[in-house]
Amino acid sequence: MRSEDNSKGIINVDLDGVIYDFDEALRVWLRRRGYARDFPEPTTWNYWEQWGMTAGEWMAQFRTAVEADFMWRQGDPIEGAVNGMWKLSDAGFFIRIVTHRLVHPFGHQKAVESTVEWLGKESIPYSSIAFLGKEGKENYEGIALIDDNFINAEVFGSTDDMSDGLLFDKPYNQREVTWSHRVGGWGAVTEWFGA
Ligand SMILES: [Mg+2]
Repeated sequence: MRSEDNSKGIINVDLDGVIYDFDEALRVWLRRRGYARDFPEPTTWNYWEQWGMTAGEWMAQFRTAVEADFMWRQGDPIEGAVNGMWKLSDAGFFIRIVTHRLVHPFGHQKAVESTVEWLGKESIPYSSIAFLGKEGKENYEGIALIDDNFINAEVFGSTDDMSDGLLFDKPYNQREVTWSHRVGGWGAVTEWFGA
């Protein structure tokens, strides 16, 4: 990195489920669309199985919520995320947001615009941001990746001894970790980095 000091290292941070409360945003959206039911904390990545929907119906609602300037543009941060990001930033780490939000064909402009606007609105600090389609996060070098996706955290943690995968604890990622470390929330994240 040329223009910015990253001597303390690059920390890659996921957005959905780590900084942005994706689940709650989708719940709010679905209720507005007339779904009168409870949406329990999912214990599987396939939310629709526990939310009484088909995969296709869930995907369509997700996409429509993005197109309607709701998902990723409105909604709340995960508890402790804003403060935690500031602590990492203030401690001198280079923060790169790494997100798989290029998920909808021809929806990339909306994804990028909504994301950047929301991060600004919430005053969340970051030095760099990577919008990914279907590629691995291990391509983005850094001392750590904080992610709620079990595979992402495990793969990143397995690449080399200098790269830690931090699995952000969620009901849907309760598998035994081998290469990554489970962190219970943002308090545990900042503690990990001594920030
Ligand atoms: Mg995530």
